[in-house]
Amino acid sequence: MRCSGTDVGGTKLLTVVLDGDEVVEVTKEAVPRTTDELVARVAELSRGCDAVGVGIAGAVDRAGVVRYSPNLPAIKELPLAALLTEATGTTVTVDNDATCALRGEHALGAARGVQDAVLVTVGTGIGGGLLLDGRIVRGAHGFGGEIGHMVVDEGGIECVCGRRGCWERYASGTALHHSDFERVGWWLALGLVNLDQILDVERFVLAGGVSEAGEKLLGPVRRAWAEHAVGGSHRDRPDIVLAELGERSGAIGAALLAREVP
Ligand SMILES: [Zn+2]
Repeated sequence: MRCSGTDVGGTKLLTVVLDGDEVVEVTKEAVPRTTDELVARVAELSRGCDAVGVGIAGAVDRAGVVRYSPNLPAIKELPLAALLTEATGTTVTVDNDATCALRGEHALGAARGVQDAVLVTVGTGIGGGLLLDGRIVRGAHGFGGEIGHMVVDEGGIECVCGRRGCWERYASGTALHHSDFERVGWWLALGLVNLDQILDVERFVLAGGVSEAGEKLLGPVRRAWAEHAVGGSHRDRPDIVLAELGERSGAIGAALLAREVP
């Protein structure tokens, strides 16, 4: 079965075509300026595919409507799955980009063999994909996993979402403009410990542009974990690892999610 997956980022459109589990085509280009152009381009890139998947940053509901995307302000209440189904004549799924990245890493990357994991995309902002008891969790409306907008500092730094003190303002690439790595690692660990208190996961997988710093990022996070952890030596600490599929994880995961639709 041939299927395509497209990751719609803030500026970049990355598409892969899978034949089985093998990536046979990769296309990387700028995100089209209008939604009409976006739909036409994704349809063109997925020509000849039996299923089409799209991952996009923001709140995507279970019908594949992109309700709101902070990095793509022109997109609001866009029925992307329906428009692409019409344009391609095939099965189309649209999901949050971090959920797609989690699917990719669970199938073929750093979350293989794990039942409980959170994938954290650390780029301009922070996104999250949740795997609990071996199943991807999207929540009642599809908006689960928007972990970057947990408020960790009341009255703190202004966020793109209109509020103040969101975690992503302190622990993402944007935070590096006003802070150093050690401090960003401290904030990142704070949020991960909060998530672990709620979910008790086996593994955190860090993806996205900032995670490419590797040990420079992981070192401070692991050091700060001990400071934040509750019940320290009495709890098993989750693994904190880097994603393995690089910038393709979201596109690969989108293709896999599309393929899995019955
Ligand atoms: Zn926010």
